[in-house]
Amino acid sequence: MTTSRFDPEPVCCGVCKRLAHGIGYAPKQGKPVLWLCTNVDCIALGETVFKMAPKTLSAHELMALDDAGGKAGAYLEGIGKFDLTTLSATEWMEFLRTVLNGYGESMRERLLNHKAPF
Ligand SMILES: [Zn+2]
Repeated sequence: MTTSRFDPEPVCCGVCKRLAHGIGYAPKQGKPVLWLCTNVDCIALGETVFKMAPKTLSAHELMALDDAGGKAGAYLEGIGKFDLTTLSATEWMEFLRTVLNGYGESMRERLLNHKAPF
């Protein structure tokens, strides 16, 4: 799942995949930069993610995506709808927001708590 963590310019946060904001981690000038968003936990995790082996990072990403899916499922259960075609436009956007935000929250939590990626 891991794509390039080192975009030449800020695009996506290397931790949560939200919009990066010109903050980045690089061990030395002239080295690739891991761009980050403005979330304080993402900034704190920049070095950890930069140094993480791609296989380990991918495993964390898959687990975070699974966690986000669980949160989105809980949202659907909360509104009593399980057929995505029956969601209103507002419910659909909330479902998507739950996946997107849930992924970032889970990545930060997993990496801050050093959860094993399995
Ligand atoms: Zn972030």
